[in-house]
Amino acid sequence: MPAPLRLDDLRADCSRCVGLCCVALPFARSADFALDKPGGVPCTHLRQDDGCGIHAHLRERGFPGCTVFDCFGAGQHVTQGTFGGRSWREGPEVAGPMFAAFTVQRQLHELLWHLTDAADRAATAPLHDDLHAALDDVRSLTDLPPAELAPLDIDPPRRRVDALLTEASRLVRAPFRGPDRRRADLVGARLSGSALRGADLRGALLLGADLRRADLRDADLLGADLRGADLRGADLTGALFLTQPQTGAARGDSTTRLPARVERPAHWA
Ligand code: SF4
Repeated sequence: MPAPLRLDDLRADCSRCVGLCCVALPFARSADFALDKPGGVPCTHLRQDDGCGIHAHLRERGFPGCTVFDCFGAGQHVTQGTFGGRSWREGPEVAGPMFAAFTVQRQLHELLWHLTDAADRAATAPLHDDLHAALDDVRSLTDLPPAELAPLDIDPPRRRVDALLTEASRLVRAPFRGPDRRRADLVGARLSGSALRGADLRGALLLGADLRRADLRDADLLGADLRGADLRGADLTGALFLTQPQTGAARGDSTTRLPARVERPAHWA
């Protein structure tokens, strides 16, 4: 019987990781990253102790992308669990499999984040057995050894989880009859003060949208692109499938209300 899954298992704990995102992932020079870096090459700011040398100054040094990244706890899982405390620094025979495992593990942990969100809601009670079975199945995949984890085809579990999340979303949003804006192009849209409670905004493009004071309670935001969206004064209480990278990429402030499981980004006023 595995230990119960805690929300903290799905949040990055960089103190128990070996800086995996700073090495395994490629950076493309852009507004998010001040330099180009191929995957598998350490960021020039990564210290020997695997801490970030400019952690307190990432935004002003041109790395806002690092401040919004979240591995959903995959980094410490790969480091401490999958690889038993080893490090990519030991050599290519560890580094290659470790980076490959990290890529898959992050996707699995993201599925766990969404499944726990769905399973923690009273409205999804008719689905709880299925949701908990899916949680057990995905968790068992996260415990695979490196040689099985790296080549794992994530599509079948993702499809199963997607179907469950869709049904969970329908159950949660049903009382509110919110608008269906699934995958809508709302780039730069003026939606301040909009009544979007229970809306389906799954996959919507909300880049730079003005959502100040919008009522987004219980809205489905799975995969919605919130980069630069203005959430000041918005109410996202109970919003479904919201992640730390989404909020981190948006603008917000102390008046933005977030679901309990999502932490207020440090750079919000
Ligand atoms: S991979 Fe995750 S735990 Fe590791 S350093 Fe990056 S954010 Fe932190």
